[in-house]
This record gives sequence, C-alpha cells and structure tokens, in this order.
Amino acid sequence: MPFRALGLDARIIKAISDAGYTEPTPIQSAAIPEVLAGHDVIGIAQTGTGKTAAFTLPLLSRIAAYAPANQSPARGIKTLILAPTRELAVQIEENVKGYAKYLSLRVATVFGGVGERPQIEALRTGAHIIIATPGRLQDLMRQRHGDFRGLQHLVLDEADRMLDMGFLPTMRQIIKELPPKRQTLLFSATLSKEIETLTHEFQYRPKQVQI
Ligand code: AMP
Repeated sequence: MPFRALGLDARIIKAISDAGYTEPTPIQSAAIPEVLAGHDVIGIAQTGTGKTAAFTLPLLSRIAAYAPANQSPARGIKTLILAPTRELAVQIEENVKGYAKYLSLRVATVFGGVGERPQIEALRTGAHIIIATPGRLQDLMRQRHGDFRGLQHLVLDEADRMLDMGFLPTMRQIIKELPPKRQTLLFSATLSKEIETLTHEFQYRPKQVQI
C-alpha cells in the first residue's frame, strides 16, 4: 500500500518521498490510520521497524490540520513526546524536523546534562511539539515553565525502557499536569504486565497494533 492511501497531509507525503521512503513499514500501515482517526494506540514494536514515523507522521498531519492553509498553527504546545534518553530524544527531533520540513511548526527538545536556559526560552517563546526526557521536563514544569493546557497528544516512546529506568513516578507527575482529554500513544518493545498497567492508567480504549 502506498503512503498516499493512508490519509496523511500532502506536505508530509512530499517530505517522506524526499527522504526516499516508498512504502510504509508494517507498523506504520497499522498505526497511522488509527492515530489519524484520533484513537489512543499501544504499539508493540522494536527500534528499526519505523516506529518513530508510525507516530510522528500522523501526529504532524493532525497538527497541520489545525492550521489554515499555509499558515502556522496557533502558538502553544500541542504534542508532548516523552523518551527515555537524550540520544533517543535527539533522534526523534531529527525525524520530526525532516518530516515537518514543509510545515511551519516549532519543535523544542528538553533533556538533562545541558543548561536549562535555552530550553526554558524555547518553552517560553512557543513550540508546537516538545520532545523530552522525563527528569528534565519535570524540573522545568516544577518551575512553572511550559503551558500544557492546550495539549492534544501525548506519546510515551520506549515506555518499557522508561519503566526500567525508574521513571514511573516522574511520568505520573508530568501526566497529572496535562489535560485528561487528549490522545495518548504508547510504544514499547514488549507487552508486559507493567505496560498493561501503564495503559490502564494513562490511555482510553487504546487500539493495539503489533507487528
Ligand atoms: P525507527 O524504527 O523509527 O528507529 O526507524 C528506523 C529507520 O527506518 C530510520 O532510519 C528511518 O528513517 C527509516 N524508515 C522509517 N520508515 C521508513 C519507510 N517507510 N521506508 C524506509 N525507511 C524508513
């Protein structure tokens, strides 16, 4: 099935064809229509399967749809992507920036081990998409940085690794501050008891996609 058939925004189709992708991977074919339809999704997929594009492409498409033609969507955080490590956060950022090259969206990345100032500034001046590791984001939220009241989508990427790293209390603190009416996507390499508990706590009637 070609990407065109999945219902993505034409500007995103153009960006992925620039990247040389010809066909969606199995996790993308399964997840993209569910995310576009607004459902919560549990994606069981390993790194290397194209899972990053499986959630970023449809979310970018939905955010682009909030904006009038050729205009940037209104300022404000629409999507928060939580990832376990700085390396993964940066990798997701690079993907998002590539796929969003024909959209006027602002992306900010928040992680520990570097100065807070530029990240605070990025939150203050407005970003549509925030990619963050839990610890640093919690620190910034405690200092009342970032306005998440208009948030529509939350992604927990590599949720199993975030649990292994002991981030559950931090994730709970962050998610408590987000609007309860939102779309929540969770990706994990495996479906364990702990992941099921997480989906019960943070998701509403999730559709499970597995490859
Ligand atoms: P990920 O599983 O998200 O880490 O992606 C693995 C790699 O596959 C990344 O380098 C992507 O750029 C690439 N990729 C993702 N989707 C596709 C696709 N549909 N066709 C070709 N390459 C892809």
